[in-house]
Amino acid sequence: MAAGTGNAIARCRIRKNDTVMVIKGRDRGKTGKVLRVLPGTGRVVIERLNIVKRHSKPRGTASPGGIVEKEAPLAVSNVMVMCDRCNAPVRIAIKVAAGTATRVCRRCAEPLGNE
Ligand SMILES: [Zn+2]
Repeated sequence: MAAGTGNAIARCRIRKNDTVMVIKGRDRGKTGKVLRVLPGTGRVVIERLNIVKRHSKPRGTASPGGIVEKEAPLAVSNVMVMCDRCNAPVRIAIKVAAGTATRVCRRCAEPLGNE
């Protein structure tokens, strides 16, 4: 079962602070920075994207209620990492050299920043 140890790296190629583009859904074509990667769920929270409005009821003086805007998590399959060099959303390859895995752009083969 646990023969393929390399899978853990390949599964989640998106990391915190990556700049990504949304390729599906309401915010398609928009880019933003990854604030959080939610492990296990395959979802990411992207700064100022996929905003949902929460209508909250007043609960004491600390929370007066009203409409609160909040980023909702997006599935990683709906976003692609932006390559600075290509200035485009790209697919990522994992390059292993000297035991270290580096994420590289499949288009220009340059390592992505934020390692
Ligand atoms: Zn590139």
